[in-house]
Amino acid sequence: MAISSLADFKVSGPTRNHRGVRKPNPLKYVVIHSAVCCGGSATGAEALARYLRDGAGGRRVSWHYSTDKNSVASSLDEIYAGRHTGSSFVDTHSIAIEMAVYVPGEWDITNYKQTLDKTAELTADICIRNNITPELLTATQLRDGQNGIISHNLSRIVYGGTTHTDPGPTFPWDIFAKKVTSYFNAQKAGGAPVIIDEDTAEQVEPRALRRGDSGSAVGFLQSGFGLKVDGAFGPITEAAVRGFQLAQRTELTGVASIELQEALQDPEAEWEVKTSRWLPQNLYRGKSGSALYKAFVGIWQERFGLEPDGIFDKATQAATLGFQSGVPGLEADGVVGRSTWGTLFLP
Ligand SMILES: [Zn+2]
Repeated sequence: MAISSLADFKVSGPTRNHRGVRKPNPLKYVVIHSAVCCGGSATGAEALARYLRDGAGGRRVSWHYSTDKNSVASSLDEIYAGRHTGSSFVDTHSIAIEMAVYVPGEWDITNYKQTLDKTAELTADICIRNNITPELLTATQLRDGQNGIISHNLSRIVYGGTTHTDPGPTFPWDIFAKKVTSYFNAQKAGGAPVIIDEDTAEQVEPRALRRGDSGSAVGFLQSGFGLKVDGAFGPITEAAVRGFQLAQRTELTGVASIELQEALQDPEAEWEVKTSRWLPQNLYRGKSGSALYKAFVGIWQERFGLEPDGIFDKATQAATLGFQSGVPGLEADGVVGRSTWGTLFLP
């Protein structure tokens, strides 16, 4: 039996709703969901667990744990693979936590702080028992096979299989990550966790984000781009915003408008497809190109404080060579190919 000792009660759903014994697949992920499945009827962890036990309304879905502000409900032993992401790969390598909160709009941290605490404590416990790194993965890290914590939305972005974007665009990832780290370290050390005080945390209001901004909204923006989530809007986040604007053929302001943030979360936006179109552009001296090519060159030039005129000249080449020779693993060939672009746009 593999169930967290944090579980307050246990029910079991119909076996046809899970994917059978997960082994020999190793556990790699904890997937964080919020109960978009059940709309406003998600009234608590126990109610969600009963929903699964009673057949999930005829849907073939299952997950391991449900959480609310008071309790953790187990509905599937960890030895089984659930059906919760739409991707059989992710399902067979993950443990799922469904937060019994339905947040169609803004995550109000004050209302959900206890649920966040319960969920973070459970996440840390799952990570410790299963040797999962207690860190949020970026899309790139997920693609590269690293293990860690992911959202249902990130699973969708990388592996598809669903239109779900939970836990939603304003989920406070930075606060959640701090809580998980705190519980993880405390459980490892056998002591009490240092609880992050959300009362001093910002309330998330939709707003345009720009260089110098920080907080949950920036963290979510970064996760949408597959960047390292640190909640600080720095030059890499700005470059990613400009790359997205480039892909959308809009003005390259580097400011993430509310519309851009929504577009980034739009499952129909095919951001990943766009990424693969614009990232591999090779830039080098002597190559001429479209306005799009020049825009790429301009972004690259700005990295070095050069005039962003879009012409890959001798100075741009020299800056590129100097940059490449200082980065281990990069070939100093003066060509801005995929791996060199990657140092700018990816973590
Ligand atoms: Zn989900």
